[in-house]
Amino acid sequence: MRHEILCPYCHENQTVVHPGGYAPIHAECMSCGKLFIMEPERHGVAVYKVEDAPCCSDPDCLETELSASEND
Ligand SMILES: [Zn+2]
Repeated sequence: MRHEILCPYCHENQTVVHPGGYAPIHAECMSCGKLFIMEPERHGVAVYKVEDAPCCSDPDCLETELSASEND
């Protein structure tokens, strides 16, 4: 699914292709080249700088939690 969003760093319009669902993903800005996080929501898309993303919206954090729960 294609989303029109604003880069959180340079505020240029970006088109990001998301595989579907509500999982947060990393996206790369085509204007400034920085990685950021985009997360589809019920009524739009949330965009975060990597350093500002809450853990539940950070793909890396989700992976960490999954691997931690497997160790229980
Ligand atoms: Zn940018």
